[in-house]
Amino acid sequence: MKNKNSNSKKLKCLKCDLLLEEEKININYLKSTFPVELLRCPKCGLTYVSEELALGKILEVEETLEDK
Ligand SMILES: [Zn+2]
Repeated sequence: MKNKNSNSKKLKCLKCDLLLEEEKININYLKSTFPVELLRCPKCGLTYVSEELALGKILEVEETLEDK
């Protein structure tokens, strides 16, 4: 069993040196919609999605679909 510890990370925008704000969006994948948290810079609007997080959620969805 693995512990996921990516939730408490605070990332900064490299350009503005400001903390990125968390924002939730919905991603459509394989006819399923699921929420993904992304980080956005309040100043320049740069968005950052943790690839690990997004891929992890997609894998979870795939496993759920295959299970049926
Ligand atoms: Zn910025």
